[in-house]
Amino acid sequence: MQKKPEDKSIKRMADLLRQGATLTDLSCPACASPLFRLKNGTLWCGRCEKKVVVVKNGDEQDKTSSATYSKLEATLLAKVQDIQDKIQNTEDVEELQKLSLALSELLSNLEKVKKMNIPRRNL
Ligand SMILES: [Zn+2]
Repeated sequence: MQKKPEDKSIKRMADLLRQGATLTDLSCPACASPLFRLKNGTLWCGRCEKKVVVVKNGDEQDKTSSATYSKLEATLLAKVQDIQDKIQNTEDVEELQKLSLALSELLSNLEKVKKMNIPRRNL
C-alpha cells in the first residue's frame, strides 16, 4: 500500500475525532484543512498540528458563489459527525476499521471542498 503524506494528516484528524474532538465548519488559514474543537475548547488544525486562532473575516464578499461549496461542506460535516458518533459507540474492531476508512474519505473530501472555497473567501 502506498503512503502519501496526506494520509498521515487524515489519520491524525480521525484520531482527534476518536478522542472526542469535534469537527467545526471552520478551516485552517494556513492549509485549509478542517479545524477541530478540542474538549477544552481549543481550535486545532490536524494537519499543521497546532492551535489555530480564527479571526472573523469582516468583508466576506462573494458569498453567493461559495454557497454551493458551503452546502457541500455542511453535508460532509454532518456525515463526519454521524460517523464520529458511531465510532464512539462501537466496540467492534471490524466496524471500527470500516468507519475509520469512511471517515478518512470524508475528511479528505472536506479538505478539498474547503480548499476550493477558501480563495473566494480570503483573497
Ligand atoms: Zn493547518
